[in-house]
Amino acid sequence: MKIISPNWNSIDTVLLDMDGTLLDKYFDDHFWEEYVPAQYALRNGISDDQARAELMPRYRSREKTLEWTNLDFWSQQLDLDIPALKRQVQHLIAVHPKVVEFLDRVKEAGKGLYLVTNAHDKTLDLKMERTALAHRFDGIVTSHDIGMPKEDPAFWEGLRRIIPFHPESTLLGEDTEAVLGSAALYGIRYLVFVAGSSSAKPPKDSETYYSVRDFGEIMP
Ligand SMILES: [Mg+2]
Repeated sequence: MKIISPNWNSIDTVLLDMDGTLLDKYFDDHFWEEYVPAQYALRNGISDDQARAELMPRYRSREKTLEWTNLDFWSQQLDLDIPALKRQVQHLIAVHPKVVEFLDRVKEAGKGLYLVTNAHDKTLDLKMERTALAHRFDGIVTSHDIGMPKEDPAFWEGLRRIIPFHPESTLLGEDTEAVLGSAALYGIRYLVFVAGSSSAKPPKDSETYYSVRDFGEIMP
């Protein structure tokens, strides 16, 4: 596949992922890989390492499904109040550098601007409450609204019934290559990979997609 750099003259709609793309993925990684295992360990009288060894395969078995992001599912599975635990570490929710300026510029340029996320409503609500980004978008759609995760190419057809966009004049910003892959199959033209998804990990460019460290690199 040819790497295509964004050409703002031919873009009328911008779709952006939330976690890792607009917000620091450190929050999510820390929450699922450290905080939840620690709470699970306390509750079950096991060590943090034992908890992690038990939980990681359980997480992985739900990847690329709607269950993975469904907080109610995990509350029930782990017998923990996952939304309440998220609130306990909400101070770690942070917006990536250049994001607010980028959103403003996209709006000023007259493009349609939508947040499109696999996140569950309860995660979305908490993050929008903490970051106050919601009003900057023309709309917010979650995969739970569509009934399938973004990794499924049929997701984009479902999204199109809610948001009017033309794949050939749309830009998608994402930190998950599998989602860019499903969008490519559907025909979305401008695919941007956010390499600096977590402040705790070194950025790593994609070999397949146009990569940026932050949105300052592709300001309209
Ligand atoms: Mg993401």
